[in-house]
Amino acid sequence: MRYCLLFVCCCLFACATTQPTTSAQPATQESIAAKTAKMQAFPGFFNFYWDEKAGEIWLEIDQFDTEFLYVNSLSAGVGSNDIGLDRGQLGQERVVKFIRSGPRVLLLQPNYGFRAETDNEAERQAVEEAFAKSVIWGFKAEVSEGSKVLVNFTDFLMRDAHGVADRLRNTGQGSYRLDASRSACYLPRTKNFPQNSEFEVLLTFTGDPQGRYVRQVVPSPDAITVRQHHSFVQLPDDNYRPRKMDVRSGFFGMSYYDFATPISQPIVKRFINRHRLEKKDPMAALSEAVEPIVYYLDPGTPEPIRSALLEGASWWNQAFEAAGYKDAFQVKMLPPDADPMDVRYNLIQWVHRSTRGWSYGGSVTDPRTGEIIKGKVTLGSLRVRQDFLIAQGLIIPYENGTRAAPELEQMALARLRQLSAHEVGHTLGLAHNFAASVNNRASVMTTPIPTCC
Ligand SMILES: [Zn+2]
Repeated sequence: MRYCLLFVCCCLFACATTQPTTSAQPATQESIAAKTAKMQAFPGFFNFYWDEKAGEIWLEIDQFDTEFLYVNSLSAGVGSNDIGLDRGQLGQERVVKFIRSGPRVLLLQPNYGFRAETDNEAERQAVEEAFAKSVIWGFKAEVSEGSKVLVNFTDFLMRDAHGVADRLRNTGQGSYRLDASRSACYLPRTKNFPQNSEFEVLLTFTGDPQGRYVRQVVPSPDAITVRQHHSFVQLPDDNYRPRKMDVRSGFFGMSYYDFATPISQPIVKRFINRHRLEKKDPMAALSEAVEPIVYYLDPGTPEPIRSALLEGASWWNQAFEAAGYKDAFQVKMLPPDADPMDVRYNLIQWVHRSTRGWSYGGSVTDPRTGEIIKGKVTLGSLRVRQDFLIAQGLIIPYENGTRAAPELEQMALARLRQLSAHEVGHTLGLAHNFAASVNNRASVMTTPIPTCC
């Protein structure tokens, strides 16, 4: 996008990054190859190395002032609906970049909430300097080699990026803190690809359990072990066209201030969240997509639920066909070697908790444009059992001593198909359609009683 280039690094670091001098280099003369000779190499988007002896991950940074996406998530959760730390829960997505000053390497998050969309560089700089940025983490360049540096990445990964301790405290479960001696890098989910680097850590929080929810779900409530995931991802190209938001559209959206806006126009710009979709043949009334939108189902979903979720989610293909796209929306099983947290896979995840809770649909979006990069549906597994019990209560099938009637399960699965479509709808960028509730329930984005999301 045009405005992805608007944010320039502050002068202090620009000097250090564009004109590195001998005096700015750290003292070590060791090469990256020598330092990592005994480590396991993971070549990819950001090359990294696993030092098994020390239990550390080292990151090679070869691009400074180049923006990329950083996403964190909770890959393995606590299992309590009341606490709310679900398996697969998305954290925050951020546009970030590495900047450098001497031996110091900083991971900087520019501020995309305030922009000046103009060719006037000074005007852009006036906005860029007016609002705070956020440095997410600071590293020391342990080895410097030309334009590349090697940093110890372990402390960045082994922190409570998802806010687990805050969540435990805010839900009255007690005061917990991260125990480094019971935490470690988790290599089975640490992988590298050409356009994304994936890291995972096992973290243990220790403390004095105060609440009953942790006692319900944690085997030793004074030690709560979860896993957190970090993804560094290449940003999408500039060919996506943001679509202006109209509040009547029913879409979720993103907004920012544009201080270059003419005085007579609204300063806040709003765009909808949506997936990128282009026709192979733009002139055809019905065309296949250049790149179809593919959603993947959690292979941990058992039958007959699996078939119900696949069918319900697939209903969306009818909507895309009505909009002129052939087979543009597809639903498949997640391949065995794919990581559910990998942002390249839209995911419908079947999530267990000890009590019945909400299902929800979220997404990873490009903060610059509103483009949905990953749709992520969380379906609570107990809901289908609750619907079965509701059906049981409504028709009293045991009056004549008969076994459970098949209609009970059929109703529960029918509701699950609707729920699958509903939550996928949220991840396609759509909000609730309450008008449909009094319009022959014409949209799956309505919220039918007695059990909504
Ligand atoms: Zn909903």
